[in-house]
Amino acid sequence: MDYLSEIEGKQAHDPMFLEKMKESSSSSSSCLCVPGPVIVGAGPSGLATAACLKEKGVPSVILERSNCMASLWQLKTYDRLRLHLPKQFCELPLMGFPTGFPTYPSKQQFVDYLEAYARKFDIKPRFNETVSQAEYDPTLGFWRVTSVGVKGKEMEYVCRWLVVATGENAEAMMPEMEGMGEFSGDIRHTSLYKSGEEFRGKRVLVVGCGNSGMEVCLDLCNHNARPSLVVRDTVHVLPQEMLGTSTFGLSMWLLKWFPLRLVDRFLLIVSWLMLGDTSRFGLARPHLGPLQLKNLSGKTPVLDVGTLAKIKSGDIKNCCCCRYVRASRA
Ligand SMILES: Cc1cc2nc3c(=O)[nH]c(=O)nc-3n(C[C@H](O)[C@H](O)[C@H](O)COP(=O)(O)OP(=O)(O)OC[C@H]3O[C@@H](n4cnc5c(N)ncnc54)[C@H](O)[C@@H]3O)c2cc1C
Repeated sequence: MDYLSEIEGKQAHDPMFLEKMKESSSSSSSCLCVPGPVIVGAGPSGLATAACLKEKGVPSVILERSNCMASLWQLKTYDRLRLHLPKQFCELPLMGFPTGFPTYPSKQQFVDYLEAYARKFDIKPRFNETVSQAEYDPTLGFWRVTSVGVKGKEMEYVCRWLVVATGENAEAMMPEMEGMGEFSGDIRHTSLYKSGEEFRGKRVLVVGCGNSGMEVCLDLCNHNARPSLVVRDTVHVLPQEMLGTSTFGLSMWLLKWFPLRLVDRFLLIVSWLMLGDTSRFGLARPHLGPLQLKNLSGKTPVLDVGTLAKIKSGDIKNCCCCRYVRASRA
């Protein structure tokens, strides 16, 4: 912290720095010098970064484009969502989950935890500020970060460090499919799906068999809708728990002792014993093991929370690919 005050103190009396600041602020509506890092994104990563910095006495500013913390969880997820991984693997540094929380906290519990976390470390993100540009100025040795507010008001932040914590799931990816324009039904991305309630009795095509697609199918089934799942690619489906513990936890533990390929082999054998041959239900496995594939391509295995049983029973129909969308009445 002392060195930050020292830098600030020097800058306050440096005519060249002040002149440059004046020039830069005259070109945009407002300019703010931040005596620590600017963090982009108030999701779990941004909050954790701010808390760890604060613990070391380093102040920071979080810029968040939406109007709340953890916007992915609060605004873009379905109602039945629980953490896919056990809580001990999802907690942020310096503060654990409350002891009463279940192994897989609900989305509301996770959001409550994140809000309590922000309160504990007195983290107050600047909401409704979308970072549109970040440029390193080598002459000054500072980042110039531009954000745009709701009414288009631009703000420039000048800081020495920039932390980008904008997440890997924050942007919805909507594939283009032939016939989408003419389709009379509702087409929506999972980030806008809340519950199967509004689809009761309807036929719904779910495109994509990752964790979200599989769980949405289950939710639709539980609300008496008639879902079909489009499976374009191979996929690893693993039980969420095996041998009385979480598959993820067990994998992490085994990786401490055994090579990745051996752990993959183990996971596949136990999955086969518990789930059977998934390719019989249209879910063929990739050639690479689940952990190796995750390492090489980032593709996450599906942790089954009950969808596979519904596919086996025929409550969820399987389609192998989706080339075009055609108008239908159901
Ligand atoms: C359905 C689902 C289930 C999941 N389950 C789990 C789980 O069980 N366990 C787990 O660990 N992870 C899970 N994840 C992964 C999830 O990505 C993480 O839980 C977590 O949200 C990642 O945190 P993050 O802060 O890195 O990113 P995010 O939570 O995505 O936060 C990024 C933030 O950056 C903001 N932002 C983006 N661009 C800008 C910009 N230009 N300017 C300002 N702000 C910006 C966004 O609005 C957002 O608030 C799940 C994800 C999904 C979609």
